[in-house]
Amino acid sequence: MALTPIAPTRPLTDGYGRRISYLRISVTDRCDLRCRYCMAEKMQFLPRKDILSFEEIDMIASAFVARGVRKIRLSGGEPLVRKGVVDLVRRLGRHLDSGALDELTMTSNATRLARHADALVDAGIRRVNVSLDTRDPDTFRYITRWGELDKTLDGIAAAKAAGLQVKINMVALKGLNDDQIIPMMRWCADEGHDLTLIETMPLGQIDDDRHDRYLPLDGVQGDLQEQFQLVPLAERTGGPARYWKVEELGLKLGLITPLTNNFCDGCNRVRITVSGKIYMCLGHDDHLDLKTALREGGSEALDRVLDQAMILKPERHDFEISAGQNDPTVARHMSVTGG
Ligand code: SAM
Ligand code: SF4
Repeated sequence: MALTPIAPTRPLTDGYGRRISYLRISVTDRCDLRCRYCMAEKMQFLPRKDILSFEEIDMIASAFVARGVRKIRLSGGEPLVRKGVVDLVRRLGRHLDSGALDELTMTSNATRLARHADALVDAGIRRVNVSLDTRDPDTFRYITRWGELDKTLDGIAAAKAAGLQVKINMVALKGLNDDQIIPMMRWCADEGHDLTLIETMPLGQIDDDRHDRYLPLDGVQGDLQEQFQLVPLAERTGGPARYWKVEELGLKLGLITPLTNNFCDGCNRVRITVSGKIYMCLGHDDHLDLKTALREGGSEALDRVLDQAMILKPERHDFEISAGQNDPTVARHMSVTGG
């Protein structure tokens, strides 16, 4: 079913006056790793019949672009485990060529990046975010349950060689990788990568106790400031990250602090799942069904759901991690909405 073009005269704006210009798409809920803070070891993934085809993802993404979305990030699960995903990147890349989109990016665990880096560049991707919580092989295997550090490092090296700008995402985990934050900063600075530290968020049931591993980044920031000069950068991406330049290392350091520091006021994003649901906030369960709208009503019905979503986007998230509270604030895993 072909979409009728939608004039970009009705930019998406939510009930709090925030312009929605950033779309994150989870292209699969599956993954080849099982990071302990993200997934349980035994996960139930969506049956293939329930997931959007690339054509449908393209139609939905294009409807967002027509309503003023300027940046799309493909995530998952692990986006590169979905067969043919580079074809989807190529399709979406046409919006870069037309100037409708400023940026198309991907978040990946890099296990398959060595194979795909050149094709991703060819399809229009210029930057990737890669999860790397440690550079110690044993800790890496423990955190990811069965990951091989070398594969991920090879993927990162291939991305760099292909000309992709790499940002490393490191989830800060008390007692697991807190002693590796400074070595990771030095390595990223040497390699020319940016680094973002992330607070673990209470999303989805996992096997471990999140509270045990939760490391508030306000404390980490204080410790770093005793050793380094952190110069705040004005840059904001409309997400929960704040950025610093670490003067001594020449490193751009981001801190994602949804728990210790709530930055929802400037939120510019929504997320869609591979089953075609739109989530207006990472920290809430409210969602609407784009897949049914698209399949049953085409572009006009889809557009109406986008309007509804703008009305329903909440002002802020309600994440909380506390001792003895094992139920996550939000039942779905991060991999459902792609971070
Ligand atoms: N598989 C890809 C990867 O790991 O980069 C993309 C999907 S992953 C869900 C996206 C990001 O979310 C990763 O940087 C990961 O570390 C982070 N993440 C996953 N679960 C999280 C949680 N509960 N709290 C904070 N960050 C989480
Ligand atoms: Fe997979 Fe990424 Fe989740 Fe790790 S963080 S289990 S790599 S989706």
